Amino acid sequence: MKIAVVGTGYVGLVSGTCFAETGNHVTCIDIDEQKVNKLKAGEITIYEPGLEKIFTRNLKEGRLRFTTSLAEGIKDASIIFLALPTPPGEDGSADLKYILGVAADLGKLLQPSDYKVIVDKSTVPVGTSEKVRATILADGTGIEAAFDVVSNPEFLREGAAVEDFMKPDRVVIGTSSEKARKTMQRLYEPFVRQGNPIIFMDERSAELTKYAANSFLAVKISFMNEIAVLCEKLGANVDMIRRGIGTDFRIGKHFLYPGLGYGGSCFPKDVQALSKSSIDVSYDFKILNAVMDVNALQKQFFISKIRNYYKDDLAGKKFAVWGLAFKPNTDDIREAPALEVIDYLVENGATVTAFDPEAMENVKKEYKNKISFAEGQYEALTGADALIICTEWNEFRTPEFEKISAALVKNVIFDGRNLYDTDIMESLGFYYESIGRRIVQGQ
Ligand code: NAD
Repeated sequence: MKIAVVGTGYVGLVSGTCFAETGNHVTCIDIDEQKVNKLKAGEITIYEPGLEKIFTRNLKEGRLRFTTSLAEGIKDASIIFLALPTPPGEDGSADLKYILGVAADLGKLLQPSDYKVIVDKSTVPVGTSEKVRATILADGTGIEAAFDVVSNPEFLREGAAVEDFMKPDRVVIGTSSEKARKTMQRLYEPFVRQGNPIIFMDERSAELTKYAANSFLAVKISFMNEIAVLCEKLGANVDMIRRGIGTDFRIGKHFLYPGLGYGGSCFPKDVQALSKSSIDVSYDFKILNAVMDVNALQKQFFISKIRNYYKDDLAGKKFAVWGLAFKPNTDDIREAPALEVIDYLVENGATVTAFDPEAMENVKKEYKNKISFAEGQYEALTGADALIICTEWNEFRTPEFEKISAALVKNVIFDGRNLYDTDIMESLGFYYESIGRRIVQGQ
C-alpha cells in the first residue's frame, strides 16, 4: 500500500518506518526542513531502540521517503496519517491548529476521483474527526465521497516504540465507513498475526479510548506515589506494598513503581486535556484534577528531600544528576521531572553536572550554559556533594559504588527511582533517600 505520514516526530517516524518494514511504500512529510534533510541523508532524528536499523534498511530499499511537500507526499497515497502535535492550549485543551491546518491544506489537494483514507493518529479530543472532515470539505469542492476520516489513536510507549508498533496489544480504529474499515484492516493485519485484536468502534469512542488509557495509567502511578508518601509517614516499605498488591490480577504488577512524578509529552497534556473536555460538557472529572495535583506535589516531595537535608541552604552546593530524559530509552525531555529538579537547584544557587546516555543534546539546546554535562556517569560525580537520580536507565542500576564514593565529596544519594536496595546502601555507608522507603542514614 502507499502511505503518507504527515508529521515526522516520535509517532510519525516510528509509524512510517514500521509501515515500510511490512512492505508498504511510505512518504513521511514534515515542515521542519532541517529534520527532513537529515532523514533523507540517512540520519535518524530521535533515539528509539531498534529504530535506526529498520529505518536505514527501508530507506535503502526505497520504501521510506521524506519530503517537506504535502502535495508531493500525498499524491500517490491511499492512506494519509496525521501524526501532528496536539500541545495544550492556554486553557489546557488540546490545540488542534496543526491538525486543522493540515486538514485545510488537504481540502485543496484532494481530488474527487482519488479516494483516500485520512487517519488521525494524534491524540485528539472527542469530535475531532468530525472537525477534520468539515475543515477538509470547507476548503475543497466536490470531494464529499473522495475521503473518509478515521480515528486510529497510537498507544506506543517511547523507549519501546518499535516493539509496541510492530506487535501492538491492540489496534483501535474508529470509523463508520465500511470502505475505510477494510483498508485499515488490510494495513494492520501483518501487525496482529499473533492474535491481538483490531478493535473497531465509532470515531468518538476511539478518540476517548486514548485519553482514557493515558489517564488511567496516570491515576495508577499517582496512586502509588501517594501510597509511597504514606509509607514514609507510617514506616512501611512501598516495595512490599507494590509486590503485595501487584500479585492481585485485578490490579496487575505493571505501572506500580513510585517515583518523582510522571512527565513526558503525553500524560501531563492528556490528563489536562481530558479534564478540560469534561469541563466543556459540564462535568467535573474529580479524579483527574486530583491526579494533576498529586503529580505536581510528587515532584516537590522529591525536591523537599534535598531541601530538608541541606536545611534549605543550597547556595554553593554541587550536584551530580543522573538521568534527564523523562524515562529511560528515549532522548525525549518534554516535561521531564529531572528538569524541574535541576531548575530548583540552580535557582537556589547550586551548580549541576548532569549525565544522560541519550538526552543531553536535547537539554543542551534548552539549557545552554545553565548546567554542565559530563562525558560519563562517573565523570558527573567529581567533587559533587550528592548524586541525584532522576531516570532509571539500565546502566544506573548496578553501578560501581566504590567509584561513586571516591568521586563524591560526601556519600549522599537522592534516588527518585528506587534503584538500590536500602540494606546494601546501609552496608556501603551511604546516606540514601528514595521514595516510600526508609531513609538510610549513612555513616
Ligand atoms: P512530535 O512533536 O515529536 O512530532 C510532531 C511533528 O510534526 C514534528 O516533527 C513537527 O515538525 C511536525 N509538524 C508540525 N506541523 C506540521 C505540518 N503542518 N506539516 C507537517 N509536519 C508538521 O510529536 P509526537 O510525540 O510524535 O506526537 C504526535 C501526536 O501523537 C500527539 O498528538 C501525541 O499526543 C500523540 N502521541 C504521542 C506519543 C509519544 O509517545 N510521543 C504516543 C502516542 C500518541
